[in-house]
Amino acid sequence: MNQQKVAIVTGSSRGIGAAVAQRLAADGFAVIINYSGSAAAAETLAQQLLQQGRQAMAVQADVSDPAAVRALFDAAERTFGGVDVLVNNAGIMVNASIGETDDASFDRQVAINLKGSFNTLREAAKRLRNGGRIINFSSSVVGMLQPTYGVYAATKAAVEAMTSVLAKELRGKNITVNAVAPGPTATDLFLNGKPQELVERLSKLAPLERLGQPQDIAAAVAFLAGADGGWINGQILRANGGII
Ligand code: NAP
Repeated sequence: MNQQKVAIVTGSSRGIGAAVAQRLAADGFAVIINYSGSAAAAETLAQQLLQQGRQAMAVQADVSDPAAVRALFDAAERTFGGVDVLVNNAGIMVNASIGETDDASFDRQVAINLKGSFNTLREAAKRLRNGGRIINFSSSVVGMLQPTYGVYAATKAAVEAMTSVLAKELRGKNITVNAVAPGPTATDLFLNGKPQELVERLSKLAPLERLGQPQDIAAAVAFLAGADGGWINGQILRANGGII
């Protein structure tokens, strides 16, 4: 019998991460549903998956905290015997011009998006099993570079840089490292605080003339995590309906 494959999905209590956890569980992975504050949502998702006969466990860990990230990997290894896939989905976005960005929101975005990705990549580099897959989360704003996305885009550009470097550093280990870069996707992160007319305008920017759904992004992650994505390495996959 093939060994059970195990995936950690950071920030999977809500939004894109929750869709990724559902999709990878349906594809046969045991999934660790990581969250920072939304315990009830994470536990509910884990229970739903268990009831569907999937393997799942919710684990609290703030990805910006290196000790918490080590404990997250420890919990996965203890319960499921190892880790094969890391999906570095946890992230936050604060919209503000560079001139109006305060220190606290700069530090939070760097701590969660950049340091958080680094913390999990460092553990994954040491602990992923042979044949492992790492899928980071960038954003299509790295290509679009619109006003008010300066700090957020900078953290995601840094994630893209680490994606390429780590892919090379893992030579010989049979582990791929890629990033998915979504465009506007219908989650709290994108929708909160935006007036309806702005949401409608942004949803028409891509030639496919709609917002991405979390399941669209989960499908791209599932491709990179699954058998068909095995020859893709060190790449940034923009999943955005053609917006850029
Ligand atoms: P979301 O709906 O706001 O969900 C964010 C998730 O991240 C939640 O599950 C949240 O869990 C978790 N999280 C936040 N801070 C965390 C921390 N410190 N430690 C662990 N988990 C944490 O966001 P989303 O739209 O799904 O975004 C997912 C990823 O896609 C992010 O990396 C984002 O930058 C990227 N992205 C999104 C879009 C878009 O349009 N939505 C576009 C491009 C890229 P808690 O509630 O428990 O804190």
